[in-house]
Amino acid sequence: MIRVGADVVHVSLFDRALGAVSSGRLPRTATICDWGRLGSGELCTLCERPIGQSEGILQFEMPGQLTRKPLHFGCYYLWEEACAHLDPLPS
Ligand SMILES: [Zn+2]
Repeated sequence: MIRVGADVVHVSLFDRALGAVSSGRLPRTATICDWGRLGSGELCTLCERPIGQSEGILQFEMPGQLTRKPLHFGCYYLWEEACAHLDPLPS
């Protein structure tokens, strides 16, 4: 959700991922660690919803930072898509 004046505008998560990568809130490349366990209420870096105990979580490290940031699996794929969209591989 973003706020424009008094209105709350819903944007799709993909648009959010594009915005996050463009603004540097999510990196274009990161070290992924901690695949394949279930969440325990961590707030997802992309969608900002808690990652519940029935949802897969992964964590990544921002380049040059030691803190790990959590993502839903689904949000991770959106992030990858956003990176590919912004920075297509040369053909
Ligand atoms: Zn998420």
